[in-house]
Amino acid sequence: MKVAAAFVMRVAIQSAHKVMTQDEWEAICQGCGACCFEKKIDGQGIIHTTAIPCRHLNIHDRSCRIYPQRLQAEEDCIKLTPKNITELSWLPECCAYRKIAN
Ligand code: SF4
Ligand code: SF4
Repeated sequence: MKVAAAFVMRVAIQSAHKVMTQDEWEAICQGCGACCFEKKIDGQGIIHTTAIPCRHLNIHDRSCRIYPQRLQAEEDCIKLTPKNITELSWLPECCAYRKIAN
């Protein structure tokens, strides 16, 4: 039933996105920058966030220096969308999108 629940949540998020503007979707982000640190996967397949920031992250205010061009300039940068948000298990637990997806 867990799989079914996850599916229902995915549909709900995708449906919500249809009535959300891009600005409203982006406004969910708290700007913490926690997702912009390198990740490592250990021998058990567990993902750990390191203390190494993306080279484009301003570590003082946690903003992305190249936000409008980030997807072209940084191949490891992933755009968060209602479609992929439930699949990005590496997002930190504090992430507002992860909280919505969970
Ligand atoms: S390029 Fe992507 S991962 Fe790097 S700081 Fe900007 S938003 Fe974060
Ligand atoms: S971890 Fe989530 S809330 Fe924080 S900056 Fe990244 S996307 Fe936004």
